[in-house]
Amino acid sequence: MAWWSRKNKATESGSEKRSVPTGLFQKCDGCSTTLDSQKVVAALRCCPQCGHHFSLPTEDRIHMLLDEGTAVEQDTGLSATDPLGFRDTKSYADRLRGLSKSIGPSDAFRSFLGSMHEVRLALGIFQFEFMGGSMGSVVGEKITRLFERALSERLPAVILSASGGARMQEGILSLMQMAKTSAALGRLRDRGLPYISVLLNPTTGGVAASFALLGDVILAEPGAMIGFAGPRVIEQTIRQKLPEGFQRAEFLLKHGIIDAIVPRAELKGRLSMLLRMLLRQPALQLPQVASVASISGEMLAPVRQPELATPAAPVAEAPAVSDSADGRTDDSQSTRAEVPPLVASALCDGPSSDGAKSFS
Ligand SMILES: [Zn+2]
Repeated sequence: MAWWSRKNKATESGSEKRSVPTGLFQKCDGCSTTLDSQKVVAALRCCPQCGHHFSLPTEDRIHMLLDEGTAVEQDTGLSATDPLGFRDTKSYADRLRGLSKSIGPSDAFRSFLGSMHEVRLALGIFQFEFMGGSMGSVVGEKITRLFERALSERLPAVILSASGGARMQEGILSLMQMAKTSAALGRLRDRGLPYISVLLNPTTGGVAASFALLGDVILAEPGAMIGFAGPRVIEQTIRQKLPEGFQRAEFLLKHGIIDAIVPRAELKGRLSMLLRMLLRQPALQLPQVASVASISGEMLAPVRQPELATPAAPVAEAPAVSDSADGRTDDSQSTRAEVPPLVASALCDGPSSDGAKSFS
């Protein structure tokens, strides 16, 4: 055996000592701390140190949002064809087949009827795992049917978007989904039924440019990237450096594009409270949700009152419903549905049962 091929026992034993089973720890993208993976999962895949939101599998999100045993999936039999015979590194048809096997046959969007803290609703969730949540003809059709179902059953609609935009493999057929979904949403709005849009990381392209930014109330997860084109494309086009944090949820909240940033742990409580207010249903007593925001209070700082610890206080100061007759706002220019003042204050507060109580 030549000297250079001798095994170094000291190095071997050292590497054995250093080896850590994979999956036990992960590094946080927000604060670079090494985290116990089990603790991250227990915190709905949020960093217990800084509140950074990791991506959450669609299945977990459904369990998180809908009351147990109420979720009934809709439109499961739809599948895309390949009208253009599109081929990149492999054919579009093969790609669809492979993803249907590994992820499921639902394409990039799953539609449900169910209840959220006893409020019945039509809920849609993008599956980013499936071709980057891109909107092709199946996704557009499912969203249109979701709005039409909400209309026929007189239910509110909630959609959680996470998408890279239109699906280029379907060409113009994917682009027309923007108009189709927006038109269906228009019919829902004409009947006065609420639609809440929740923007996850990332929400871009044709999805951001249509129904995702047409919500009566628009919420976002902390740190979500939201926009049409990516920052690099914009910088190259306008030949200017973009400001720090451009296209992040916090920046958009500051500039009035979205209504509130809601940490994942609070989302179900906040959504159900908003829906009850918009539907003028009596409030439900909810237990105080253990909040990821309590770890990272600055997430909600731009819209909250300074004292996060007393979420009920701003609601008490909000005008009573009787003061504002039918809850109309002064903004006659707004094309979005009119939001009662208490809903506006609900955007600033946690799922406080006190605030909801004063509405009923
Ligand atoms: Zn962190």
